[in-house]
Amino acid sequence: MISLVLEDMTFEQDIRELLMAFYPGEKYIYTDEDSILSLFLSKDSKSYNIKIKSEDNVLEFISPLRETKFDTKNDLKRNIYENLLNLGNADLPWGTLTGIRPTKIVMEMLENNMPLEDIKKHLKDIYLVGDKRIKLCIETAKNEFNILKKVDYKNGYSLYIGIPFCPTRCLYCSFTSYSITQWKKDTDTYIEALCKELIAVSKMYADKKLQTIYMGGGTPTSLEGYQLSKILNVVKNNFDLSNILELTVEAGRPDSITREKLEALKAAGVDRISINPQTMQQKTLDLIGRQHTIKDIYESYRLARDVGFENINMDFIIGLNGETLEDVIDSFTKVKSFDPESITIHSLALKRAARLNTENKREIMDNDLILSMINTATDTCADLGLEPYYLYRQKNMAGNLENIGFSKPGKECLYNILIMEEKQTIIACGAGTSSKIVFGDGRIERIENVKDPKLYIERLDEMIMRKESMHGID
Ligand code: SF4
Repeated sequence: MISLVLEDMTFEQDIRELLMAFYPGEKYIYTDEDSILSLFLSKDSKSYNIKIKSEDNVLEFISPLRETKFDTKNDLKRNIYENLLNLGNADLPWGTLTGIRPTKIVMEMLENNMPLEDIKKHLKDIYLVGDKRIKLCIETAKNEFNILKKVDYKNGYSLYIGIPFCPTRCLYCSFTSYSITQWKKDTDTYIEALCKELIAVSKMYADKKLQTIYMGGGTPTSLEGYQLSKILNVVKNNFDLSNILELTVEAGRPDSITREKLEALKAAGVDRISINPQTMQQKTLDLIGRQHTIKDIYESYRLARDVGFENINMDFIIGLNGETLEDVIDSFTKVKSFDPESITIHSLALKRAARLNTENKREIMDNDLILSMINTATDTCADLGLEPYYLYRQKNMAGNLENIGFSKPGKECLYNILIMEEKQTIIACGAGTSSKIVFGDGRIERIENVKDPKLYIERLDEMIMRKESMHGID
């Protein structure tokens, strides 16, 4: 337990998130009670006065009030960070950066033609980012920058189609996902509602260029082949696809993939799919409730190649319960034989709604171990000729690290960059989806659809009206 006693709450979230990075999994209280660490903060006309009390140490220091809130905040975070190191904590790979889009900071600097040396210095001096993360962040942002340069994204938009069903619920899942077994007989009704929403959106956005489509979930391939064809035909018959740059479907779970479904996707023009092993260790797959075998991964991948897919992504998670460094080395040795066009590496995020949390199965790994695992994974990507092209972080992430998308040059997923860098309006249809409207001045508004598919079907008109009310003012 960590206690925060703050006289001024302006930077409460920033302080808490920084402490969360040093002490993953701890609970926070706002009274001076028995805890492994207490942070007291008071304020006078010139500075913040801070006291940090650990079990065997007390540190007191000040942090100045600067002219801008930005400078005051970053000074405060740096001062707390350095004092936490004095208590014996190890450096964090991302320093004081706790936001989810570190590449956004670098992208802005690249767009303003800032020299690379100055960007590196900024990341080091202001945020205390470690050298490896500076290199990764700049390399990723440069790739994003060069990809976006070729796309007229400002005049376009993207479409997300949500299929909230999966064969089983994975232990770490915090997405909108309902059992396909329980929903089986009602999926046609869901698809009918989804198609109505898609048609309404196609009319609303008829004057804009649709550039990317991403069907995710859940696991879209939980549906039958004819159902996938139906949705994609509605898209084909109602949207102008002459400006489409990519159409991705998250096949996701190998236990949901069949030749018939892959052929339906191929026939509908899908040019990028994901087949996600998460790990190549059977004991881990069993533990996390994936209910498929390693053989299924090889088989579904072979089928996808056989059907003609030339752009396949594979997702992996680092920090899964019970995995050792040797397991990760073994998984990534096996990945080499697939030679996929892209690999996305996730550091496990401990989300509140996940069964890992609700069933008390959280296992917090040592930060150094997670770092070695991530290094194994990223080295494999480099060996396969894959380059980082998008990156984001989440709260409560194992090792306080990041998720990184690696790809062969030219095989990147543009949708992933557009959503992460918040460069383009993304209209999302289906239960549990969230549309993001990006305005000309950079302002962003979200429109949420209800999560429960049953409620989504019942309240479809309202979901459409929410989108209509926002349309035309962006
Ligand atoms: S496949 Fe993905 S969406 Fe489905 S339960 Fe597992 S983590 Fe959640």
